[in-house]
Amino acid sequence: MNTRSISFRLLVWCAGLSSGIFILSGILFYSSLQHFLKNDVRESQERRARQIADTLLTHVNQTGSSYVAEEIEKFYAPEINDRFIRITRGDSVLYLSGAPNDQSFDPKEVPATPTTAKDEFYQTFQSPGKKTLLIAGIHSQAQDGAEYLVEVGTLLDPMETMLNHLLLQLVFGLPVVVVITTAGGYLLVRQALAPVESITRAAERITQHNLSERLPISKTGDELERLAFSLNRMIARLDDAFQNSKRFVADASHELRTPLTILRGELENLVEASRLDAEVRERAASMFEEAIRLSRIVEQLFMLSRLDAGEAQAEWSSFDLAGMAKNTAEQMSLLAEDKNISITCDAKQAVIVEGDPSRLKQVVVNLLDNAIKYTPPNGQIELRVHAVNGHALLEVEDNGTGIPAEALPHVFDRFYRVDQIRSGGIEGAGLGLSIVESICAAHGASVEAESTVGKGSRFLVKLPLSRN
Ligand code: ADP
Repeated sequence: MNTRSISFRLLVWCAGLSSGIFILSGILFYSSLQHFLKNDVRESQERRARQIADTLLTHVNQTGSSYVAEEIEKFYAPEINDRFIRITRGDSVLYLSGAPNDQSFDPKEVPATPTTAKDEFYQTFQSPGKKTLLIAGIHSQAQDGAEYLVEVGTLLDPMETMLNHLLLQLVFGLPVVVVITTAGGYLLVRQALAPVESITRAAERITQHNLSERLPISKTGDELERLAFSLNRMIARLDDAFQNSKRFVADASHELRTPLTILRGELENLVEASRLDAEVRERAASMFEEAIRLSRIVEQLFMLSRLDAGEAQAEWSSFDLAGMAKNTAEQMSLLAEDKNISITCDAKQAVIVEGDPSRLKQVVVNLLDNAIKYTPPNGQIELRVHAVNGHALLEVEDNGTGIPAEALPHVFDRFYRVDQIRSGGIEGAGLGLSIVESICAAHGASVEAESTVGKGSRFLVKLPLSRN
């Protein structure tokens, strides 16, 4: 998984944000509910204490304390309702409720409230059984002026049990919420970013050879639609510029061919003219050589522009690549003999491919020509043609100068020549391998180069076998 991808980062944000919001709102909800419930319990205890004070204590001097106790038992039934009720006058306790039925606390253990307590107050008492009693107390004055302290309390247990239950639900709810929001976020992100994936795939496919293709535009009306639209306009501009430059090379090389042929002819005549003196003839010969070189470059450029225009397809046929390579090697062996280089050919079995034979012959010529040029005298060149796994493999291997590793990726570029060689004075314009690559591309073939400086080079052409 790519942790730096937009979808991953969005999902992490989504999970983090949803758990953050859930935890925060959970804490807020829990604490306000706790506050509200506690307040409610306090207020109802206080209300009861005031009721007792107002209804039973005002005339206590006339009714008597036993009447008060009876009335409290009758109306409030503290033992049954787990309540604590205590009425004190000065230091003496007028009434104290009994222990509740479940014995959760003992009223006798609740410490006496100091006389300095405020008119209205609250306090909590923790029983030995870890039960919390919330007690509200009020001071009240009877008709005869006597001061009474009424305290009413109840257990916080039910409230705490409910809050614990809620806490548990929140804790277990957190992973559920995170999973649901992350899954929802994942679906949303995947849907939103789906066009990015198809745009990337289409963009990967577009090269200089298929600049007429365009990126898919999903009619979503969002930023991605605008991006794809802008990229398509950029590709269209690139296509235009590319076509213009191709057209320029094609036109220029075409226009240069005729004047160069005339120039060559004229110079050749001059070289052969016996009435001219030797020095002029020598200069004319050097100009003739340059004119030949120039017209070779122009021919190569013209061939490249025709290949770019896709004209190679016109003369396709099925033929034996092995036989053609063998003949070409024989024809070129004369050139190799000048440098005492031997060309061995391993192409016994016929290998039938489909294509333009003259163009594919050009591939073999260019590869062999380079091998001869860049192999010192007495070197060796091997040419092999085999059929392997539905493909024809054509290999040209030499034990020549080799190509430096940093130059190897560029040898198929137009006008590229390895510097060391350029200074070595070997003739060439850096177009031979570009032509090889263009012919291969037109035939659905690939060409690769391997090389070690000082040991030699190996060029491998992989071409689909004929299906007929
Ligand atoms: P050139 O006309 O210069 O030979 P190419 O396009 O045929 O142009 O080759 C490009 C460069 O690749 C050459 O200049 C040379 O440096 C290098 N090269 C090609 N073939 C070989 C080879 N068999 N051995 C060593 N270097 C080679």
